[in-house]
Amino acid sequence: MAETHVAQQPGTGHAVVIGASMAGLLAARVLAGHVDRVTVVERDRLPDEVEQRKGVPQGRQLHVLLARGLAVLDRLFPGFGRDLEAAGAVPVRLPGDVLLSSKAGWIDRRAPGWTMLSASRPLIEATLRRRLLQLPGVAVLDGCEVTGLRASDDSRLVHGVSVRRVDGGDDVRSVDADLVVDASGRGSRAAHWLADLGYPEPGRTQVDSHIAYASRLYRIPDGFAEDWRAVILMARPPHNPRSGFLLPIEGGRWILGLMGAAGQHPPTDEAGFTAFTRELSEPVIAETLARAEPVSDIRGHRGTAGRLAHFERLPRWPERLVVLGDAVCAFNPVYGQGITTAAIAAESLDACLLAQRRRRPAGDLDGLAGRFQRELARRNADPWMLSTGEDLRYPSTTGMTASRVLRAQHRYFDRVEIAATTDPAVTEVYARVFGMLDRPTALFRPRILTTALRTRPVTVEQMPASAPVAAVPAPRAPMEQRSGVRAR
Ligand SMILES: Cc1cc2nc3c(=O)[nH]c(=O)nc-3n(C[C@H](O)[C@H](O)[C@H](O)COP(=O)(O)OP(=O)(O)OC[C@H]3O[C@@H](n4cnc5c(N)ncnc54)[C@H](O)[C@@H]3O)c2cc1C
Repeated sequence: MAETHVAQQPGTGHAVVIGASMAGLLAARVLAGHVDRVTVVERDRLPDEVEQRKGVPQGRQLHVLLARGLAVLDRLFPGFGRDLEAAGAVPVRLPGDVLLSSKAGWIDRRAPGWTMLSASRPLIEATLRRRLLQLPGVAVLDGCEVTGLRASDDSRLVHGVSVRRVDGGDDVRSVDADLVVDASGRGSRAAHWLADLGYPEPGRTQVDSHIAYASRLYRIPDGFAEDWRAVILMARPPHNPRSGFLLPIEGGRWILGLMGAAGQHPPTDEAGFTAFTRELSEPVIAETLARAEPVSDIRGHRGTAGRLAHFERLPRWPERLVVLGDAVCAFNPVYGQGITTAAIAAESLDACLLAQRRRRPAGDLDGLAGRFQRELARRNADPWMLSTGEDLRYPSTTGMTASRVLRAQHRYFDRVEIAATTDPAVTEVYARVFGMLDRPTALFRPRILTTALRTRPVTVEQMPASAPVAAVPAPRAPMEQRSGVRAR
């Protein structure tokens, strides 16, 4: 992993960030190391407590913070992981604490892997927001919507944004900025705003496996103490396109996330939702939840297509505007890459700003924005390739077709998964690639390659029926005793 340095000496100037979700908060953090003032403009009124909000509808669904993402958050906000755990996030070792059923069967649990801090999406965001707002020079303008960009007469450079209070009629005011960062998510208006300034539309790639989510919270039963903390039952496309994730979160609760591709969407009514759990590849989730009390409604979510906007390919790009996060690259979320990719984007922004300072010590930002968009495209390439490549296993996927090379890669990855059911050295690399700690090319290292190529494809009937036992068994205490936050 390329290390970047967060500048500690603020320069001068004012940066505006559009959107106070994960990508915006992380971008604001690195900008605070480079400019005097950072203003984050957010359409929602931001809650003081850990709460769902309208602008992040995916917040009710299960969110996994991958190892690489947590490492970046911890570097940008030292002690972030400690704060998250103190707020109730539950440490879960992957694979040690997880019953993980892959296309090839149960993944071996003996590898050291990495530790995820499992929490609700609102808790992750609220913890990050609290840390950001402790930084000098950072302010949030919430309840305010950015309605457009302010630019020079020749549209060559962006020098601010137009802002409207969401509850304040049609009054629009402008906020000047030396740098504008659009982190407004899948619904970003950046392309329209650029068109208003006379820039061409960026090309877009959309790959959609038409996966839908449904999630629900449960109270973890008193005295629950298995040798696992979480269960992940992955889809086995094309035969079984249904996945289920059962993860512990703050407040002594489990979050159950169900996902299904087109024609197999998880229902949001009581009976259908429960029936769906019984149709997952293994019965463990259905059996476990038969003893657990639901403590929330069932919430569905659609709109999970992978979407990539090719801003970096535009022949012209305005100075002082950068776009990042889901606004540029949004993934099919089942692979858990969104927050981590936003964190990597923030690191890239930091590195580009540092390089700019070396290149132009007087502080001028010419060339920075275009260079950043090109660097971001390079950084997004791996997770995009991995997620769309896996999406193309589903017959329902639209937007791209599987090439012969990709089909060969699928067959090879299938063999890696088979090896990962019995060989901890392979499981370790598999877990690290899943956690984005290693690049997917790690799966082609000689040790993995020789082991994988020696495996024989297995059929569903040949898969081991019983889940593997942990090398280091038994949680330290029943999970509900370890969570600091009370359930709502
Ligand atoms: C169902 C689902 C499950 C997911 N699961 C995972 C997971 O397990 N792990 C993971 O890492 N990622 C997951 N993701 C992705 C993750 O939620 C995003 O990648 C992450 O939130 C970063 O997004 P963002 O900050 O770019 O945009 P968003 O989170 O969409 O936030 C955009 C923000 O901008 C604000 N905004 C929008 N327009 C304006 C405007 N004009 N003016 C002011 N404010 C504005 C919005 O109110 C919002 O706060 C999931 C996504 C979905 C849909």
